Amino acid sequence: MSKIDLSLDIDSLEILSQTVDTKGNIVIEVQSKATDTPCHKCGKTATKRYGYGPFLTIKHLPLFDKPVYLKIRSVRYQCEHCDDHATTSEQYDWCDRGSKTSKGLEKYLMRSLIHSTVQDVSRKEGLGYKSIVSILQRHIGEKVDWSDYQDLETIGIDEISLKKGYQDFLTIISAIEQSGRLTIIGILEGRQKKDVKDFFESIPKPLIATTKAVCSDMYDGFVQAAKEVFGSQAVVVDRYHVAKLYRAPLDKLRIKEMRRLKSEISAEEYSKLEAMMWILRAHHECLSEADKSKLTLLYKYSPALKEAHKCALKLTHILNTKCNRKVALSKLNRWIKSVDNSDVQCFATFIKTLKKYKPSILNYFKARKNSGFVEGLNNKIKVAKRRCYGFIKPESLFQRMQLDLIGFDMYA
Ligand SMILES: [Zn+2]
Repeated sequence: MSKIDLSLDIDSLEILSQTVDTKGNIVIEVQSKATDTPCHKCGKTATKRYGYGPFLTIKHLPLFDKPVYLKIRSVRYQCEHCDDHATTSEQYDWCDRGSKTSKGLEKYLMRSLIHSTVQDVSRKEGLGYKSIVSILQRHIGEKVDWSDYQDLETIGIDEISLKKGYQDFLTIISAIEQSGRLTIIGILEGRQKKDVKDFFESIPKPLIATTKAVCSDMYDGFVQAAKEVFGSQAVVVDRYHVAKLYRAPLDKLRIKEMRRLKSEISAEEYSKLEAMMWILRAHHECLSEADKSKLTLLYKYSPALKEAHKCALKLTHILNTKCNRKVALSKLNRWIKSVDNSDVQCFATFIKTLKKYKPSILNYFKARKNSGFVEGLNNKIKVAKRRCYGFIKPESLFQRMQLDLIGFDMYA
């Protein structure tokens, strides 16, 4: 077999020998170039060598798809500052004390964990499940570390249900900093106002002062908690959350009308009305000619859906239009009036909610802060949830989401 010489990617180490063991692992015996280490008792530099500790075997980055182990006999140093001349095993810059994996390997594993699972990485890399979990634990906290933050310019709050159809909600609180960095700052069990308020109050005061907007949906617990901590001028119910609420009754009406049509019109005609959900949700200008004729056909068969859909489009248009708070207010009021005066009934509950949260909805028009990022985040969370088959503790979800969101920046 031809040989190649590779230098180790750790500058502070010197290679003594390289062998391949009976299992095919590459074993590189190394020694440290360092001549001192910080004393474990006083923290001052200890330079006096005092024998050796046991051999350590530390797994490093694989080479040619073969596991690599670094074998090192740790030097012990005696402290000349401490009265009892305490001894300390040397500390490495390439491996945490007590760890069985090198920092280089850990960085690589953390990168592998992004958008993946512990099981998967454990299998691919031939490392135990528990080892991977402990590396993840050491690298990413289970909750937010406020000292990592300069500001919390925009905060987003939303809930997800862990399992479809169950009422076990998690509240997801995220933030976008001025720099544009998006992170999760909290995952709370349930969605009680008190818990949310407690969390908001746990944010250091100087950071609270940097918050310009808290984007929430129209859930009273969230809106009230945010108002009490950040003030009502900061609470924004944005376009995305409003849209979610008026889409639902429109969907319901569509389902009801499609059911009616299925029994009333021929199968051939009915088949022309495929994919109506997306067509009804899309912006008119995004529709193809074929979609538009489908829509025209649907309108012909269901005047009720036609009217409701037109109302929804009008509202979407209002929310998309750049205008100030005052103009938006009169537009919204006009819309409510026009729906009240029409035969459209499916938006009655939505309108009640709209009236209740009007001030916060109108705040959206002030800076057009929107939590489009919350929607993007929700998709990421859904994927993460699915990877774990829906069984995940809030702390683990926090870690996984944080890794997915900023892992590439941290471990590139
Ligand atoms: Zn000392």
